[in-house]
Amino acid sequence: MVESTNIMHCDLDAFFASVEQLDNPSLRGKPVVVGGSIHSRGVVSTCSYEARKFGIRSAMPVAQAYRLCPRAVFLPVNMQRYLEISKQVFTILSRYSPIMEVISIDEAFLDISGCFRLFGSPEKIGCLIKEQVYSELGLTISVGISYNKFLAKLASDMDKPDGLCIITESQALKILRPLPVSKIWGVGEKTEQRLNKLGIKTIGDIQDLPPGWLEDKIGSAGRLFWELAHGIDKRAVEPEHERKSIGREETFPEDINDIVYLEKLIVQFAAELCRKLRQEGLLAGSVTIKLRDSNFKTITRSKTITPCNSDIIVTRIASDLLHHSYKNKQPLRLFGLSLGHLSPVTSLEQGSLFESQSNADYKAIDQLMDEIRDRFGPGAINRASLLPDKDIK
Ligand SMILES: [Mg+2]
Repeated sequence: MVESTNIMHCDLDAFFASVEQLDNPSLRGKPVVVGGSIHSRGVVSTCSYEARKFGIRSAMPVAQAYRLCPRAVFLPVNMQRYLEISKQVFTILSRYSPIMEVISIDEAFLDISGCFRLFGSPEKIGCLIKEQVYSELGLTISVGISYNKFLAKLASDMDKPDGLCIITESQALKILRPLPVSKIWGVGEKTEQRLNKLGIKTIGDIQDLPPGWLEDKIGSAGRLFWELAHGIDKRAVEPEHERKSIGREETFPEDINDIVYLEKLIVQFAAELCRKLRQEGLLAGSVTIKLRDSNFKTITRSKTITPCNSDIIVTRIASDLLHHSYKNKQPLRLFGLSLGHLSPVTSLEQGSLFESQSNADYKAIDQLMDEIRDRFGPGAINRASLLPDKDIK
């Protein structure tokens, strides 16, 4: 049986301290503590693995860290520098999937579902990322791979530093069973104490409970914990919609499963987004669709494309993605289309001699439609497939 492991969590090891050791080789192999000064009441932001051997941990008062290891090197936080490196790391990660969700300065999720044919197995992709981060930046990154975000994040932590760990569906329950409840996402110190009082210490204790029991005791979070304890996590990797991508989405007043309507939305969204790209002189290198069903389960499907800003090409690709990912026709509450991997149009691409005739035709059509809309307003011309038997606002 081939098990799906399509979610990856990448987490740099002792990030701030590692950057300091990278920039100053004399610090390598030494206990390094990044945080406030020894005399301040600051706390430790990050410490090197050498410092961890002395019991120093993140969020510990610096003064306490000093007592544990006076000969450690104590450094102030140099956020500017960490951000600079962080950006370079995310650039490397984004080579492997357009669906990336950055969750902090040194961690991100990738949905690698659509990337296996291009790069190989999940494990191979993990290795490539690790190699590139190390060879290009000199830092180690731990990679966790699984079939959802919770387990991928758990996996990246299991083999640190410089780890690569995969949790498959058939291993999940067994791996989760002995872990303390604090390993569940959302279980902080207070919740942990509360669970302990109910006689629940390990994730296995939760696995053994009947489904509604914990929800009755502690409310809706109880249901979530029960699901996570069973390796169930429906949250999708949500790519950022910063300037790296542009998107359009629509929440429907009533759930719909009308594929003809969805296709019209694609035509409309593609026209709007591509026009924006053309106005700004940009090309998109990926097309992503987002479907959210009535249970709030979200799936995103992406395809990497030869950079373009053509309505017709984007429409065709998005519509292919829709047909592949919407076979069960579950009612949807939201549909979105976004274009990512944006890059500026270069003079070469603007008038390439080697351009295929069909691409040149698409461009001519897009240009003509833009001109007509500029003169007569946005509704003046539409593609035939947009002409409504059902109105789209
Ligand atoms: Mg980290």
